Amino acid sequence: MSAPAETVLAWIGLGGNLGEPHSAISNALAQLDDDSGIDVEAVSSFYRTAPIGITGQPDFINAVARIRTVDEPQVLLEKLLTIEAQLGRVRTEQRFGPRVIDLDLLLFGGVQMDTARLTLPHPRMHLRRFVLEPLFELEGDLTLPGGRALSHYLARARDQSAVLDDAVKITD
Ligand code: AMP
Repeated sequence: MSAPAETVLAWIGLGGNLGEPHSAISNALAQLDDDSGIDVEAVSSFYRTAPIGITGQPDFINAVARIRTVDEPQVLLEKLLTIEAQLGRVRTEQRFGPRVIDLDLLLFGGVQMDTARLTLPHPRMHLRRFVLEPLFELEGDLTLPGGRALSHYLARARDQSAVLDDAVKITD
């Protein structure tokens, strides 16, 4: 991305557990960075996490990326959904069920909004250790819109998913 006038920091949650989730996440990150309106600034380690809700499916791989963008939040969401579709995500998959790739818009600057299409911050991010843990790795001092520290939520996340010890840095 070439030095645009107005940019915003946003954080994207990436996850998947079908096929080759490491490749799907790397691919999604490359597609984001290729977009002229988006610069991927930092990517967390990749975490292997146990599935929540529906057990008996493969472990998930999860990561969080910090991006800088000139896009409006709704435009960014559409781009995420397009990348999901391109990478083979079938949107009839059940919530919490297995998936090739899931891209969530976690935070868009300090924006708080709740529309039919988009809720910011992501409505479930503060409950999910598999989001909070990689986000904390990138932004240990972050305060979420609403005024509470990220560490507050991390300390209280009731582990619907355990982050295993074999978190690995895949991208560099
Ligand atoms: P899911 O497959 O469970 O991640 O849900 C995706 C749908 O949630 C999308 O079609 C969006 O319209 C909606 N949605 C609402 N807020 C967000 C958000 N912050 N990030 C991603 N999707 C969102």
